[in-house]
Amino acid sequence: MTDQAIRAVVVGAGIGGLSAAMRLAHAGLSVTVVDMHGAPGGKMRTRASAAGPIDIGPTVMTLKSMFETLFQDVGANLSDHVTLIPDTILARHFWPDGSSLDLSHNPEESAEAVAAFAGPRARTQFQRFAQDAKNLFEAFDAPVMQAEAPGLAALTAHVLRHPRLIPAMAPGKSLAGSLAARFSDPRLQQLFGRYATYVGGSPYQSPAVLGLIWHSEASGVWRVEGGMHQLAIAMQKLATGMGAQFRFNARAARIEQQNGRACAVHLEDGTRLPADLVVFNGDPKALVDGHLGPAAMGAVRRAGVAARSLSAFVLGFAAEPEGVDLAHHNVFFCADPKREFDDLSAGRMPADGTLYICAQDRGGETPSGLERFEIILNGPPGHPSTPEDEKTCLTRTFETLQTMGLSFSPRPGVDALTTPRGFDRAFPASDGSLYGLSPHGMMATFQRPTARTKLRGLYLAGGGAHPGAGIPMACLSGQHAAAAILSDLALTSTSHRTATHGGMSTASAMTERAQSPSSVS
Ligand SMILES: Cc1cc2nc3c(=O)[nH]c(=O)nc-3n(C[C@H](O)[C@H](O)[C@H](O)COP(=O)(O)OP(=O)(O)OC[C@H]3O[C@@H](n4cnc5c(N)ncnc54)[C@H](O)[C@@H]3O)c2cc1C
Repeated sequence: MTDQAIRAVVVGAGIGGLSAAMRLAHAGLSVTVVDMHGAPGGKMRTRASAAGPIDIGPTVMTLKSMFETLFQDVGANLSDHVTLIPDTILARHFWPDGSSLDLSHNPEESAEAVAAFAGPRARTQFQRFAQDAKNLFEAFDAPVMQAEAPGLAALTAHVLRHPRLIPAMAPGKSLAGSLAARFSDPRLQQLFGRYATYVGGSPYQSPAVLGLIWHSEASGVWRVEGGMHQLAIAMQKLATGMGAQFRFNARAARIEQQNGRACAVHLEDGTRLPADLVVFNGDPKALVDGHLGPAAMGAVRRAGVAARSLSAFVLGFAAEPEGVDLAHHNVFFCADPKREFDDLSAGRMPADGTLYICAQDRGGETPSGLERFEIILNGPPGHPSTPEDEKTCLTRTFETLQTMGLSFSPRPGVDALTTPRGFDRAFPASDGSLYGLSPHGMMATFQRPTARTKLRGLYLAGGGAHPGAGIPMACLSGQHAAAAILSDLALTSTSHRTATHGGMSTASAMTERAQSPSSVS
């Protein structure tokens, strides 16, 4: 990095922002990352407790290769910066009828467990579903996820070349509808339907193709030693080592434009950060709603942010558990998933909702004494979350668990709870929605905003942009943003050179430097 380097301001130190910042700093740009919170990671955040920091954001790390690629691309090794431990049990599932099922990182073990749980026919159904999920994942990877902008034409061409994908995609069917046709046992329909919630959808309204999410989990789940937030800290450290500067507790209030191009970010405290380009890592709805000023309001289409994905009620606390042998990841299913998602669609906290529990200290030897827990109940976006709702959420959660044999001592209070309203405050303009645009409907994937916006010099990275939410996808969105930026800089450089008959301007030279891998200071 030099004094003349191209200046990039990244608004947001979530996974997408960090991923873009690392790549841009590595390419030699002068990178400043600002975040309104006091630490990196965005939704990958922690809460202090007597047992140490508790992860109160993501806990399931899948598609590790996305992070390996990021670190490799900036000349580093993921394993030198964080210690990842594979979870041999992907998740332990419990139903109100007393039954339970462990799914394993080993597909044969999972198939055996499914057969023991629901009979030999269920094993065949599970294996067929797993194979279809793999085929779909592989079909969507290049033309959709890895593409800077998802290509409907490329995807259609791929599907036409492989017509056996069509029944797996179950066009026109919801995920719940497709699972009802695949699995005879309603508990397995409920289990695999839950994967729609990984991207904030209801299985009854999300397309069947979201079954492919199972493949990302079946390919391996990892936990990070010291907690998930260590990944964000490692990314920040690496970016800092490459010259990026971080300003925390710094809220961006306005993006300034000149001649139709983003040229500065104004912070709430009045600081003006001049910028040759800006990456916005917050919810893109914040741009549309005018939170970043009038210049950025038209940068993204409203249709790409309007339908909101699910929110959640999230508890993080330390306690001693009793009564149930917990794995690292646990799911306590409700009795009636249709009723649960009907409540969510109607904007209500589920009267009886499925509960995910991360027992952060489990996975190796069973610990004794206080342990750290995160409990997640899906919630509707835009929920008012009154103090009364908070109390109701706590009562319902712990009464449900009690009836399924699990209790905690001490039980946490409302201070341990983040509600949809709390998420809306922490992530402006999101309505508390945790995954950006809702995945409902066949075309949602193609409606999400992509890295380039309509305001030149303003780019998007994060779960609200293509390819969507979840930490691997947010990481990939940062790659797409950096690629779009570097390619636009190269185009600018080329056209400038043409205009000056081969003479290199300072700007062109900076662009060339920005693209040279050896330019890292
Ligand atoms: C409870 C919970 C559990 C989850 N579980 C999983 C899981 O197990 N596995 C998984 O893969 N994913 C999970 N997710 C989803 C995953 O956490 C997100 O998709 C991902 O972390 C989003 O990253 P992002 O890049 O969009 O940035 P975000 O995490 O959304 O961060 C954006 C950042 O931008 C900052 N910002 C916004 N506006 C401004 C502004 N004006 N000025 C300054 N800063 C600003 C915010 O402060 C924030 O730090 C979970 C999410 C939650 C909340």
